[in-house]
Amino acid sequence: MELTHAMSEKIYSKTFEAGEDIIRIGDAGRNAYFIENGAVEVTLPGKDGIKVLAKMGKGEIFGEMSIIDDAPRSATVTAKENTEVIVIELSRYMQSLESSNPMMHLILRLVLSRFRQAGPQTNDGITTSVTENNSMNEIRSLALEKIRFEREMRDGLKAKEFEIHYQPIISLKDGKIAGFEALMRWYKGNKFISPGHFIPLAEETGLIVELGRVALTTGLQDHIQFTNILEENSAFMSINLSGLQISELGEIEHLAAIIKESDLIPAQIKLEVTETLMLEDFLHAKETLEKFKNLGVSIALDDFGTGFSSLSYLHQLPLDTLKIDQAFVNDMNKTKKSMRVVESIASLALSLNMNIVAEGIENKDQYIILKDLGCQFGQGYYMSRPLPKEEIQKLLLTRPTW
Ligand code: C2E
Ligand code: CA
Ligand code: CA
Repeated sequence: MELTHAMSEKIYSKTFEAGEDIIRIGDAGRNAYFIENGAVEVTLPGKDGIKVLAKMGKGEIFGEMSIIDDAPRSATVTAKENTEVIVIELSRYMQSLESSNPMMHLILRLVLSRFRQAGPQTNDGITTSVTENNSMNEIRSLALEKIRFEREMRDGLKAKEFEIHYQPIISLKDGKIAGFEALMRWYKGNKFISPGHFIPLAEETGLIVELGRVALTTGLQDHIQFTNILEENSAFMSINLSGLQISELGEIEHLAAIIKESDLIPAQIKLEVTETLMLEDFLHAKETLEKFKNLGVSIALDDFGTGFSSLSYLHQLPLDTLKIDQAFVNDMNKTKKSMRVVESIASLALSLNMNIVAEGIENKDQYIILKDLGCQFGQGYYMSRPLPKEEIQKLLLTRPTW
């Protein structure tokens, strides 16, 4: 939502009178232009006067190279009649290309600079050397860093360096363990790499699909053992799902098969999704969640309160649980506002017939406040950090309560 809003501010119409310059040679390139009506001429000053490179009319686009960099304009574009253009500010595209796919950005910049060197003024056709400026070097090292990291992740997956740890989720009323959240861990040798670092990269590179299967399969298998120790089967296992994992039907079916083939009853399985997943294609997300829901699993909305949190879609989705983001819990006893946010989420969940899990409970005060506000479940370092399977098994044998 925020994205669409920001984007819409960056696209607007503008009218130029005949003879007016829309782009001047040497200006920094910041926009692309789409011709709605009228005509333009692309020109270069030459020894024998102005040289016309091209004429363009309705439906054509110019200045689009600034999607790649903001190198100075290499030609002038002048309106030949009254011309209406749609101005598309490109800085945002350039930034997102740079951050999401630096290698593609690097390649495009190299192509562009070769193209420019072979441009009309140096018309010898062949250019072999490309001068790289500092910003290009930066992009190059960013691109290489990401590519190395992707290779390390792929190697790590083969070498089974990824593990799943479990954080108990507590029923606040009686202080007993009600379930667990499966959280991915990557130990590269002795080095711990935080999921906050590798999950976003796994999402960008598509590796999250494979990692997500590991989390689901392992999480369900280990939960059978936890259930055996608990000697009852009401405790649930919560698994995080990324948007990419449910963007393709084939993968949805694969995940559904893992769920069906597990020896758990589906009611013991919870899938955690975030709002970003709903933003891209609401209908698809809704249908997919309904498919999972029909298998008998429950669905939690993760990090609630951090996204755009439109209430209008909440009741349209088959959600069972809202997870209040830890930022609110953290600030709860510091600011009145956070307290009120938690309070209203709690009453919202109640009226929508949903459960609440409060995340990031770090002390007893928070535990008590949340319990008094009517939150059913809580999760946080105060009760337990995420632990490897063996430690959870040991913990369960002590029948802990908080
Ligand atoms: P999340 O789903 O919001 O997970 C909760 C995070 O809060 C975990 O961070 C957990 O260790 C941390 N946490 C729990 N209690 C406390 C507390 O009392 N205080 C503080 N400060 N933090 C607490 P973690 O394990 O670093 O995971 C970070 C994020 O990585 C997760 O956030 C989730 O978005 C993602 N992630 C982890 N595992 C997976 C996975 O298997 N699949 C997907 N798609 N994402 C995953
Ligand atoms: Ca989660
Ligand atoms: Ca969360």
